[in-house]
Amino acid sequence: MSALVVGAGTMGAGIAQALAQGGLQVTLVDVDPEALGKAEAAIHGSLDRLAVRRRLKQPMSAILARIATVVDPGGETLTLGDSPSVVIESVPEEEAIKRRVLARVEASVPADTLIASNTSSTPISELATSFARPERFVGLHFFNPVPMMSIVEVIAGEHSADEAIERAVALVGRLRKDPVVVRRDVPGFVLNRIAMAASNEAIRLVSDGVVSAADVDRGVKGAFGWKMGPLETADLVGLDVVLASREQVHRRTGEARFEPPPLLRQLVEDGHLGRKTGRGFHEYGED
Ligand code: NAD
Repeated sequence: MSALVVGAGTMGAGIAQALAQGGLQVTLVDVDPEALGKAEAAIHGSLDRLAVRRRLKQPMSAILARIATVVDPGGETLTLGDSPSVVIESVPEEEAIKRRVLARVEASVPADTLIASNTSSTPISELATSFARPERFVGLHFFNPVPMMSIVEVIAGEHSADEAIERAVALVGRLRKDPVVVRRDVPGFVLNRIAMAASNEAIRLVSDGVVSAADVDRGVKGAFGWKMGPLETADLVGLDVVLASREQVHRRTGEARFEPPPLLRQLVEDGHLGRKTGRGFHEYGED
């Protein structure tokens, strides 16, 4: 079984690694040679760490041998590898780019290839309008860092065939991950909506002076067993990215619970974007 991953950024590299660990022959394509170099380094680093912890079930060299990287400078000539059974699109979250890539994929692959998008916020049914035959198109929403995160949302668009969802679920199982099937592609899907609602409430409570950011994160971890608190997660992702995704879900749903709280906007306006700028809801020393 072979796979094509389009876009070798943070997520594409992780997805290619997970597919290769699952025994698939993978072609990883990007317009930018530098991105492919970084992806290869990230995959090596991640496999090294897994090997040290004795979590690799096969030799690292065998996994690496299953990944081929291909530069596609103009994003025009798609290199398909060996007629892939599945294509996963993981290019930036811009609808126009995703549509262009998906239309090109559909025109290039065999009729029975499963096509998936790793979009985190564009509805699958909207992207499906780029297809002549959208039945075989689904969402496969991986979580970052892909090699470590066990959950993958499998999202059905209005046109996705049951068979396509079944194939996507089977693929996730082959990667030794757990599928969460999202039967209707509501904006933000399922897990990000839950995280957004909780995180918005945490931000409002901090901004109303009810609790400190440190206490809210410690409380949520201790009481609910989350590995990270909602505010440290936002700082890690980047508050600009968090704001943009929340604005998108709020715009699409019109629901007040997803409206970005004023404190989040203020921090972004002031250039406090979280870990990457040294300050967000928390302060980070140089380490
Ligand atoms: P990224 O910016 O790190 O990587 C995107 C890659 O796509 C870049 O290397 C870019 O050069 C490449 N690219 C752009 N146009 C292309 C084209 N026409 N053909 C081939 N490659 C092209 O982005 P990312 O964080 O990996 O996100 C990718 C997708 O995954 C987005 O839809 C994002 O919303 C989603 N996602 C991201 C996260 C996350 O935590 N970063 C989590 C879940 C889902």
